[in-house]
Amino acid sequence: MTSAKSVPVDEEAARDFLPTAAVYVNGEFVPDATGEAHEHVHPGDGRPLGIWNLAGAGDVDSAVLSGQAAQRVWMSKTPGERRDILVNVAAALRDRHLELAAVGTLEMGMPIRTSVAGTLGAIEWFSYYAGWADKIEGVVAPVPGTHDYGVYQPYGVVGSIIPWNGPALGLAVKVPAALAAGNAIVLKPSDFAPLSSTLFAQIATEAGLPPGLFNVVPGGPDTGQALCRHPGVGLISFTGGNVAARAIGTVAAQRQVPTVFELGGKSASLIFDDADVPRAAKLAAVLAVAQNSGQGCFLPTRLLVQRGAYEQVLEIVNKTASRFTVGRPFGEATTMGPVASRQSFERILGIMERVATDKDGELLTGGGPVGGDLADGYYLQPTVYYDVDPASRLAREEVFGPVLSVIPFDDEDQAVAIANDNDFGLAGYVWTESLRRAHRVAARLDAGYVSVNSLAGLPPAAPFGGWKASGHGKEGGREGLLQLMRLKNVHIAL
Ligand code: NAD
Repeated sequence: MTSAKSVPVDEEAARDFLPTAAVYVNGEFVPDATGEAHEHVHPGDGRPLGIWNLAGAGDVDSAVLSGQAAQRVWMSKTPGERRDILVNVAAALRDRHLELAAVGTLEMGMPIRTSVAGTLGAIEWFSYYAGWADKIEGVVAPVPGTHDYGVYQPYGVVGSIIPWNGPALGLAVKVPAALAAGNAIVLKPSDFAPLSSTLFAQIATEAGLPPGLFNVVPGGPDTGQALCRHPGVGLISFTGGNVAARAIGTVAAQRQVPTVFELGGKSASLIFDDADVPRAAKLAAVLAVAQNSGQGCFLPTRLLVQRGAYEQVLEIVNKTASRFTVGRPFGEATTMGPVASRQSFERILGIMERVATDKDGELLTGGGPVGGDLADGYYLQPTVYYDVDPASRLAREEVFGPVLSVIPFDDEDQAVAIANDNDFGLAGYVWTESLRRAHRVAARLDAGYVSVNSLAGLPPAAPFGGWKASGHGKEGGREGLLQLMRLKNVHIAL
């Protein structure tokens, strides 16, 4: 492996960093894994990156068994030793963040600059949770005549399933907290982004994690099912869509194991006419449309605008969207890359066609593929619809692509009603210069995460997670750690 300093920004050289095998179990690559042979294609130009064997049920079994053995080694260490190892892991990941970012860009097309920033943000989660490893305290219950106390203990092996849209961050919200809580983790990345997680596990293990503590078994739904059904998995932590969540939830219910679910979203961004309108409009458009080509669960894809600011917001959003540089993921000037797969590309184009037929809203800009020199990749135009009917499918369903829906409203009550009239409840955004309104509206939104006058990131100290069909449980902060442990009550007669 070449050193991080020589990491290129061009696609050809980035290919040197691809892992030799996609499956990583017990501190070793598994080149002869038993899942399907998978040819992975770079979404930026449709060219194959190589062929990797994905994980089959046998690999999942080895991963869980080695996780169980490694977890016993992990818990034989003192909390301080676990902290020190996790600190070393974070440092090693930071040293090689450019390699990790380059592989992430190759596998799912995120612009390299965004990928570097996202990978560094992901590594922050490792640093943050390293610090928790020796600070897990118990509780004391006031039971008369006894010393009654509770201790938090790990589940053993956490089975974790993640999507493809941001492999570094998707992994970071799962892995370091599980390890800091004293668990092993078996991570199943999506077959649409099966490569960078393996590199994370390799670097982390080489930095001192006991082999087997962090295993990676990339694959599709069958591999995910094998993981969920494995009797050695004590908790299932899932990020993805609602169809998969139902299938996983059914298995979890049959097995009686707890779950953490981070699911989809259709988050509303409310711009009131007392806001800093130019800033709000610009940021809302950038976040909703350009960031990761709209492939983000908590992006504000419904832009609700008070009528007094409506025309101004449309003008700014249009201008901002038309200035995005859609281009190759390794291109210097690129601000928006392709979507991650041919399947996503065709699915989103299908939605654009349906919106035109159903007249869910008026097209402001975009509405199709980019084509031209970029016709070999999966490039879509930044797309904005306005006067969108709040009851339409466009306003209600997740697109997971670079598509923004703008909806006007008259007053605060109507804005909150439209925002909350949705099955999802992941995030909400409020733009206003009124302190009172900011708190009032934040309190009224049915969402697990609200951001006022800013773009929500995913800082590791803040508990993140959705309400309603957007899932249950939290990731980040102390709450995120507590989800990954079980409380044992000990009752000692005095
Ligand atoms: P997906 O649900 O199709 O797949 C997610 C993961 O689950 C993949 O690893 C997939 O292989 C696996 N999987 C699929 N079906 C399964 C089954 N029946 N049993 C076990 N595993 C199964 O989602 P996707 O297309 O990869 O990702 C997009 C979705 O993820 C969107 O809905 C998005 O909003 C959501 N997401 C949510 C968050 C969050 O934090 N709330 C973050 C990122 C993405």
